[in-house]
Amino acid sequence: MDLVVCGIGGRMGGAVARVIQQTQGVKLVGAVDRPRSSRLGKDVGEVVGVGKLGVTVSDNIGSHLKGNVAIIDFTRPAASLGYLRDAAKRGIPIVVGTTGFTVREWNEIKRLSRRTRALVAPNMSVGVNLLLGLLGGVARSLGEEYDVEIIEMHHRFKKDAPSGTALALGRAIAGEWKRDLNKVGVFGRKGLVGERGKKEIGMLAVRAGDTVGEHSVIFGGLGERIEFVHRAHSRETFARGALRAALWLAKQNRGLYTMQDVLRLGKSG
Ligand code: NAD
Repeated sequence: MDLVVCGIGGRMGGAVARVIQQTQGVKLVGAVDRPRSSRLGKDVGEVVGVGKLGVTVSDNIGSHLKGNVAIIDFTRPAASLGYLRDAAKRGIPIVVGTTGFTVREWNEIKRLSRRTRALVAPNMSVGVNLLLGLLGGVARSLGEEYDVEIIEMHHRFKKDAPSGTALALGRAIAGEWKRDLNKVGVFGRKGLVGERGKKEIGMLAVRAGDTVGEHSVIFGGLGERIEFVHRAHSRETFARGALRAALWLAKQNRGLYTMQDVLRLGKSG
C-alpha cells in the first residue's frame, strides 16, 4: 500500500514516516507540509532522519493521489479538512489524527466521510482506546454517585486544550450517565466556586516540557477513589496506531470510523 503523510515536518508526521520505513508492505510515496514550510523541496528521508528516500516534500497533495494510496494526516484542523475534501473527491481513504475540531468542523467531517473512507481519532494508541471502551461499563457499575475528574498532561507545544482524548474520555462517561459534556464539563476551577456540583465532570489540562501524553480518569466516591492512568512513552505508539488504522481502513466501505472500530471494541459513546 502507498501512503501520503500530511504534516511531515511535524512531530507526528516524522514519527509516522519512520514507522512506515520500518514496516513491510507499505511505501511512503508522498509527503506534504504547509506552504512556505522550510522543509519544502527537501528529501523526506532526510527531514525525518532515516536517510535519502527519493521523495520530495511538497505543499501540493494532488499529484500523489492516484492508485492504491491512503493519506495519514497529523496537521491542524483547517488543513485536515482540506485534505479530507481532496480524499472525498477522489474516494481515497484518509486517517486523521489531528485534534481540536469545532462542532462545525465535525459536521463537515461527517458530511465528507459519506463519500470516502475516513477514520478520525484524537488518540491512536491501543491503550487509550481500550480505556475508552472500558469506561462506559465502569461508569455503569459504579453509578452516578461517583465524582469524575479527568486530568491530562502534554508537552508545552500543544495548541488545543483540553486534549481531544480527555474530551473523548469525558464523553464516554457522560454518555453512559445521559449527561451532555458541553453542559456538565468544568474546565479548571478558581476562586470561591462553591461545593462541587453533583453532575460535574471536571477537566484539567497541564502543559509541561516534553510530556508525550498522559491521561488520568478519577472516580471519587465516599470512602474510596479509583483511578485509571494511561501514559504514552513515545509518539511511536500513535504512529503505529495510525498505520494500523490506514491498513484496516483500506478494506472498509465508505463511512466515518474511529480506532474503536479498528480494535473491534464497540462504540466509545
Ligand atoms: P506539529 O506542530 O509538530 O506538526 C504539525 C505539522 O503540520 C507541521 O509540520 C506544520 O507545518 C504542518 N502543517 C500545518 N498546516 C499544514 C498544511 N496546510 N498542510 C500540510 N501540513 C501542514 O504538531 P504534532 O505534535 O505533530 O501534532 C499534529 C496534530 O496531531 C495536533 O492536532 C495534535 O494534537 C495531534 N496529535 C494526535 C495524536 C493522535 O494519536 N491522534 C497524537 C499526537 C498528536
